[in-house]
Amino acid sequence: MVEENNFESDLDDVINALDEDIDRSELKKKLEEYLSYGVPLDQAKNTLIKQYGGTLIVSQKKNLKDVQVNERGLNIVCRIISINPKEIEVKGEKRKIFYGFLGDETATRTFTSWKDFEINKGDVIQITNAYSREWRKEPQINLSESTDVTQLDPSTIESVVRSPATAKIIDLRGGMGNVEVTARLLSLEEKIVTARGKEKKIYSGIMGDTTGKIPYTSWKDFGLNENDVITVTNGYVKSWRGAPQLVFDENSQVEKLDSDKLPLQDIGTSLVSISILIERGGGADVMVEGTVLEVIKDSGLIYRCPECNRVLKNGMCGTHGEVQGIPDLRIKAILDDGTGSLNALFNRERTEQILGMTLDECKQTAEEVMNPALIEHKIIDNIIARPLQVTGDAFSDEFGLTFLVHTVHMLSLDITKQANDLLKELEE
Ligand SMILES: [Zn+2]
Repeated sequence: MVEENNFESDLDDVINALDEDIDRSELKKKLEEYLSYGVPLDQAKNTLIKQYGGTLIVSQKKNLKDVQVNERGLNIVCRIISINPKEIEVKGEKRKIFYGFLGDETATRTFTSWKDFEINKGDVIQITNAYSREWRKEPQINLSESTDVTQLDPSTIESVVRSPATAKIIDLRGGMGNVEVTARLLSLEEKIVTARGKEKKIYSGIMGDTTGKIPYTSWKDFGLNENDVITVTNGYVKSWRGAPQLVFDENSQVEKLDSDKLPLQDIGTSLVSISILIERGGGADVMVEGTVLEVIKDSGLIYRCPECNRVLKNGMCGTHGEVQGIPDLRIKAILDDGTGSLNALFNRERTEQILGMTLDECKQTAEEVMNPALIEHKIIDNIIARPLQVTGDAFSDEFGLTFLVHTVHMLSLDITKQANDLLKELEE
């Protein structure tokens, strides 16, 4: 039951927000009715105000860490960490939505925007009247048609924090600060760099947890060794060639853990969707499954300039003119997994694997028929519309996401299984 006398100041808020004089008892009755249906107080007040043509009350600004699931009328000041468009179908109609990460000094959350607010990565904005829902067991901020977005001075929020305090590698995004990550150092290299005119030793390599791998750089000597399992506190994430990279320095803490806390065999190359890779801007040693939609021109048997390694066009190098080309094999292909697509680059070894032919065999075959394009046609026959599982490194640039393929595995079109599944469905 809704208690009486509790809402006098709330009624004052509503009356103050209205242009017209509305009878207080009428408003009170309606407010109590909304509340009795379980409508949250702020939303009930704003609904009333809207109904009588007033201006919405901005509820108090909320810190992201205090946002719960299923809140309405949210008012947040945050920085956009990443934003990506996505086409979805709602009731048979195509709609463009946006998703990504936003953060303030207290937490980082995922968000979905159902309207184009023309916001960009790095923007600091005030969001009024958003709502939250549950996604992956955490509150997700949703911006709808009735949300307002105002651009603020970027210095309003200097850095954002990742929450929960402990982040998994797959969730790291360029621009995050104050992150805590537990990972195993899979490789470690010392390098001397010159920073502000001084020589400095830095330590870098690849680290991994159960969700994935990430390049790291340490600007301080923490006495690290390969295969150490460490917890880095107060690290930050930079973008390198678009992909996230973890950095730690004298402001960070590094704690060494028992190395069986994260056994080597638990560190996987995790399967990720292409949309996640696009959102992250890339990733180190990731696995993707998709279908080849297109083989791009200049795939197959190519000739490279012996001076600069560039691919020759009609036996000519753009810089060095007519040269004796060195034969090579490669594939450039568009791989799509239904969530997005990327440009996959296969080197000579991977191309030989796909063709089941060596470079020499390719050269010989092409020379016999005097048609180098024959190899490209063979590639198309072998991989177009074929599901592939690839591992490798992904980077992003103005052309989108480029994936350097390290391993390729042709997935079988499991026709028997599909047929059995269909039979089962029919029997049920
Ligand atoms: Zn050249």
